[in-house]
Amino acid sequence: MRFLNKSSLSQWRSKICLLRIDLNIKPGEEKNAMRLDAALPTIRLFLKYNIKVVLLSHRGRPHSVDRKLSLKPFAPVLSKKLKRSVVFINNFNFGKIKKQIQSSRQQVFLLENLRFLAGEEKNDVKLARQLASLGDFYVNDAFAVSHRKNASVVAVTRFLPSYAGLLVEREITNLNRALTRYQHPFTVIIGGAKISDKLGVIKSFWNKADYFLLGGGPANTFFAAQDLPVGDSLVDKSQISNLPGLARARPRAGKSQKYLNSKKLILPLDVKIHNRQILDIGGRTVKKYSEIIRKSKTIIWNGPMGLFEKKGFEKGTLGIWKAILSNKRACIVIGGGETIASLRLLKANSYKLKANVFLSTGGGAMLEYLSGKKLSGVEALK
Ligand code: ADP
Ligand code: MG
Repeated sequence: MRFLNKSSLSQWRSKICLLRIDLNIKPGEEKNAMRLDAALPTIRLFLKYNIKVVLLSHRGRPHSVDRKLSLKPFAPVLSKKLKRSVVFINNFNFGKIKKQIQSSRQQVFLLENLRFLAGEEKNDVKLARQLASLGDFYVNDAFAVSHRKNASVVAVTRFLPSYAGLLVEREITNLNRALTRYQHPFTVIIGGAKISDKLGVIKSFWNKADYFLLGGGPANTFFAAQDLPVGDSLVDKSQISNLPGLARARPRAGKSQKYLNSKKLILPLDVKIHNRQILDIGGRTVKKYSEIIRKSKTIIWNGPMGLFEKKGFEKGTLGIWKAILSNKRACIVIGGGETIASLRLLKANSYKLKANVFLSTGGGAMLEYLSGKKLSGVEALK
């Protein structure tokens, strides 16, 4: 894989870089996003070498043009942070855009949300070629999207010399360290909402990890699979039939019941309920999970324990953060958009992250990488 170093940067001095970053940030959170900040070092590096930068990203999951998911609000935010004007390009007329970039005196350009185009998620070669026509070389710095076979992540690398950006390099270096250093007890903490993704993680770490501490939607889905009452809680019914760690009890009265038969899977002992929904893990669960976290030597965490954005349901997630910060020896990797955002539950001046904790900008990408899968976007750079 090619990384950015002095010689590659000098080679592209005064040229145009097509830079894929991750601005998949919720509307309203544009000004205060770790994802945006994580993209800045690579952009700044190019500006130092007088390289023009054409920023590419997606936002949300639109199937066609959806103004609420425009990337336009990021132009002033980037402009302020980079102390340069950022030209927002609101059309996909590639011939025209190319001329505009080449003739402009400005250095930074931001293209509209690529998922407004059907070709992006289809890894469409035609779209990739059109994107490639805008620049002289391509850099992927969108680690969180690197597991997606999208035109601006994978197909585009067929048409331009391609490199990993500083963020992708940092992610790979740190995640490789976690992979090679992993020691037992190895604990995987899984919560959040995207249940099918998270259940895949449990399966891929099944033989490696010693404990799976569950919260959020995944825990609810395990409750439901055992016929425990879950009311209107977030559950993924489609996943119930293929959960690991469950065995079928002898059918009674025509109904076959499942029960947990694995010591690895740890479900909440108590929960917080509101309006018939399980919205957080309870205090006894936090205590139990914290004990396991404190004695672990490797920890991976993805997915908040509850609806932490709502007051009254943040204690589970906060408790996990506190336990994690008290473990100063384990190799700890934490990722996922909301999981990282939940760090705000801790008062900014009340903690300091030690070098044993790595915050990844990837959620799905981080989990796939750690479970040994190859990321299409990273492979494409080789
Ligand atoms: P990440 O972005 O960290 O990968 P997800 O996107 O899977 O995590 O899920 C994060 C969301 O899950 C959070 O917004 C949180 O409020 C929500 N969540 C967690 N637990 C529950 C729950 N029990 N019920 C409803 N939503 C939950
Ligand atoms: Mg999320």
